[in-house]
Amino acid sequence: MTVELRGLRRTFGHTVALDGLDLTVRQGELMALLGPSGCGKTTALRCVAGFEFPDSGAVLVDGKDITRVPANRRDAGMVFQSYSLFPNLNARDNVAFGLRVRKVAAAKRHARAAELLELVGLPAHAERYPHELSGGQQQRVALARALALEPRVLLLDEPLSALDAKVRVTLREEIRRLQLDLGITTIFVTHDQEEALSVADHVAVLRDGRLEQCGSPAEVYDRPATPFVAEFVGTMNHVPGRLSGNEVTVLGQRLPVDGALPASSDVDVLIRPETVLVTPDPEGKATIVASSFRGASARLRVRLGELEVLSDVPGHDAVRLAPGTQVALSLVQRPVLVSERTAATTLPAEMEDPAGVN
Ligand code: ATP
Repeated sequence: MTVELRGLRRTFGHTVALDGLDLTVRQGELMALLGPSGCGKTTALRCVAGFEFPDSGAVLVDGKDITRVPANRRDAGMVFQSYSLFPNLNARDNVAFGLRVRKVAAAKRHARAAELLELVGLPAHAERYPHELSGGQQQRVALARALALEPRVLLLDEPLSALDAKVRVTLREEIRRLQLDLGITTIFVTHDQEEALSVADHVAVLRDGRLEQCGSPAEVYDRPATPFVAEFVGTMNHVPGRLSGNEVTVLGQRLPVDGALPASSDVDVLIRPETVLVTPDPEGKATIVASSFRGASARLRVRLGELEVLSDVPGHDAVRLAPGTQVALSLVQRPVLVSERTAATTLPAEMEDPAGVN
């Protein structure tokens, strides 16, 4: 099932929750809706579910306009942030609830519930009540319940946000596996960029009720369309630089500029920590001030004059790059985004030329 949102607009009093949102979710793909709090993710999902109706614009499913079709006549299964299980029903009856409403015979719906509990990894928990299940288990039951009616689209509204970090990672991988096995078109709302990048086929970054960029996880990370996407997805350093034509001079290097050019030639250059290269050098103008080891990698905080830059280096390099080490900085030669200079931070003049840095 393909889901298309066309120019969706929804206001609540003076608040514009959706401001002309366009998005296409293709058959069988997992689309993550990512964006800061209040950007309209949940409202968009509720418009697809039929719990919310847009003021204007349309929701199309396989090309058919369903904008005004009520929720109970849409073919969508939804999982919410809070587990929202019925507390007085055990896991089996929670999963089978929708089948009971559809008057499916008891034996048949119990068999289906058992199948689904097996699918979500809880074959032995059918008799348990919600209060006898952990958060992760409750969310698995909620997922099984959403799948019970064999919906053609699965809508997940921050389904992992109430869970602790480890369970979140396990469960998101299970959701992805299930989604791929079932080939079910899925929209997954999250404000957690790592979650979005790790499970989705495509990530739609929303800002103020509009689509800022939609692309594969690698595209939104490596080729963010705007500084907003660059900042929201992953970590970015802001390093002062000077524009000339389509190039910018930053830390003594000239790099090509991608995307829009601000009016002023003094800009902030957006640099990913993993593209900042750090080499021990007793003559180097920069100093490592902190290092946090993360196993496979280490994140260094490096000071250069008044500027602090984050650099991600392989974990095995952390020992020779301990705090206090004098270093030279260089940047991976690749296109960068620039934005209006925001920080008052400036580099001493000698650090802006190549000789001063390396
Ligand atoms: P979060 O990540 O915080 O859940 P979100 O991106 O899902 O945010 P929405 O819940 O879609 O954002 O809300 C978008 C805007 O619309 C917000 O400013 C919100 O306060 C407002 N809004 C949403 N629903 C209603 C409502 N029923 N009544 C009034 N305002 C609402």
